[in-house]
Amino acid sequence: MSPAKRDYYEVLGVPRDASQEEIKKAFRRLARQYHPDVNRSPDAENRFKEINEAYEVLSDEQKRAAYDRYGHGGAQGGFGAEGFSDISDIFNEFFGGFARTSAQTRRSPRRGADLRYDLKIDFLEAVFGTEKEIEVVRNETCPRCGGSGAEPGTTPVRCRTCNGTGEVRRVQQSILGSFVSVATCPTCNGSGEVIMTPCRQCGGRKQVRVTRTLVVTIPPGVDTGTQIRLNGEGEPGINGGQPGNLYVVINVAPHPFFRRKDEDIIVEISINIAQAALGDEIEVPTVDGKEKLVIPAGTQSGSVFRIKGKGVPHLRRNTRGDQIVIVTVQVPQSLTAEQRRLFMELAKTLGKEVVPQQEKGFFDKLRDAFGV
Ligand SMILES: [Zn+2]
Ligand SMILES: [Zn+2]
Repeated sequence: MSPAKRDYYEVLGVPRDASQEEIKKAFRRLARQYHPDVNRSPDAENRFKEINEAYEVLSDEQKRAAYDRYGHGGAQGGFGAEGFSDISDIFNEFFGGFARTSAQTRRSPRRGADLRYDLKIDFLEAVFGTEKEIEVVRNETCPRCGGSGAEPGTTPVRCRTCNGTGEVRRVQQSILGSFVSVATCPTCNGSGEVIMTPCRQCGGRKQVRVTRTLVVTIPPGVDTGTQIRLNGEGEPGINGGQPGNLYVVINVAPHPFFRRKDEDIIVEISINIAQAALGDEIEVPTVDGKEKLVIPAGTQSGSVFRIKGKGVPHLRRNTRGDQIVIVTVQVPQSLTAEQRRLFMELAKTLGKEVVPQQEKGFFDKLRDAFGV
């Protein structure tokens, strides 16, 4: 460490009690100003290193505390300019690829992609939960080469075009002066390595396509659109990154007579006019089997009854919704002679003379329709 080392706070131009936000802001501004690819003045590179070093320490609360107490001496314990091998590490963190992205991002670990599987289940399976086997086609890290892409026993060699850096630099002239442009190495595609003997199983792709059978546990209470996450069952990570997840998206098939509204199950039941007028005890279907339901005398068409706790379980809770029974009173569409006689009798007691209509003939209907 040179004794002429400047104070880190001075380098970044921030007060000693500066917040992390202020430090970050100052760093961004200065790094942009002194980045050697942008600033061609002779000491830009040194300034840039100095800025990075100051930021490295001051942005880390522990290192900052040590620096505050012991000065640069305290900073010597394992960090400082030697602490990071590549300045662009920090730079990329901020500028997400200003001038030099490729080699860094291509070689750094990346999480694998998430996968989606659409699974159709029955109404009752959704209510009570189930287990399903699904077949998933996905990429997996090649078992033969372990994801290196090179045939076992061989190793990738350093790319000669870029000398392993993964990027090529070009000096270009423009009316504003010369500047350096950095591009991904065309030979190695930015990896810095070239596979001379590709793995026989994956052909150098590093991954193989595999069909896997997985068991999905579907909890009670799922509905169409519910997603079940299978951790790590997605596509493999790249360069040692975490694998993605598999999302099983539920699609519930409609039931012949149960309908669902959130955690309630709706059923429509028909009763006849006598049951409605006199009352009755009937049996209605629920997802748990038949349940008794008392129809009080004088029940109107469209009346709603609730059977507690016979609905759908709440996901991750120990409670259930209700079953809602909507009662429709059916008026008979045809009557036997006896029924007709009884209704006539009934009509008299209801206090209004009824003149039953005769079935209309063809010409009567025509007349009605055209008003002639
Ligand atoms: Zn392989
Ligand atoms: Zn290369």
